[in-house]
Amino acid sequence: VALLLGAAVLVGAAGCTGAVDDGRQAADTAKLRVVATIFPLYDFTRAVAGGMADVTMLLAPGSSVHSFDPSIGDIRTLQSADVFFYIGGDGDVWVSGLLASGDITAVSVRLMDSVQTVQEQALPGEPAETGADEHIWTSPANAIVMVNTIRDTLCAQDSAHADAYRANAAAYTASLQTLDNELHAVADTAARRTIVVADRFPFRYLVDELGLSYAAAYGGCSDQTDASVSVIERLINTVRDEDIHYVFYAELSNRDTARAVCEQTGVSALLLHSCETVSKADFDAGVTYLSIMERNKENLALALNG
Ligand SMILES: [Zn+2]
Repeated sequence: VALLLGAAVLVGAAGCTGAVDDGRQAADTAKLRVVATIFPLYDFTRAVAGGMADVTMLLAPGSSVHSFDPSIGDIRTLQSADVFFYIGGDGDVWVSGLLASGDITAVSVRLMDSVQTVQEQALPGEPAETGADEHIWTSPANAIVMVNTIRDTLCAQDSAHADAYRANAAAYTASLQTLDNELHAVADTAARRTIVVADRFPFRYLVDELGLSYAAAYGGCSDQTDASVSVIERLINTVRDEDIHYVFYAELSNRDTARAVCEQTGVSALLLHSCETVSKADFDAGVTYLSIMERNKENLALALNG
């Protein structure tokens, strides 16, 4: 409400200065309205839009896609959208029902259709899961494909700004390619090629892209947090067998499993951030997919060599 009031005051103040501002106001309401479900999609879309479109992130910072249910307000946001980007995995099964209801007129794009997906892997002791792993963006190579899909969609829906969208996407994919090259360089020159993630494991596409092996506590974005003795023993065995000195925990985790492994082996824990959910503090501080992945790159270099 405070934000809305602030905007109203700004518009009011601008209105006093004359006709030029009326024109600007009309241009703003004509902007393409784009809604993206989660942070990586939102971040890619705003990079391509570069301010030419209004981009909204549907899930509030800090809220988990795996327990998300759209509110009436969320549905209103989607009803007023021109374009809607979503991943299309287990985390947003609610989308298919909403689209089938016919309430949403936005051009809706499922990003899992853009990339090659893999089945989510069940880890020892877990019930076998059959769904495709939805954490496609954790590979920068996939991120580039996703950005190109976003670019093509924005160009088709808003041809007046197509040149800007293409230029923004070209600059952004160049940065993603640099990141991908740097991550490959870290993996290719590393002392070891196995990581231990003592947490849920939304990193399948990242390790596949880099050719790394892994041991994880739980598959995908399991909401399990209470590691069994056998899970912790399995991770400890990998730490000892591979002479590993750093294990990972995922973002917004209680870190209990990592703590248990660290206590029993003397190793240290590092963050591996999937970008799926950013905290409110990180969001407000302006983190991006690129800044998060840069930090992942540094932590991977430490874990693979330290
Ligand atoms: Zn997830």
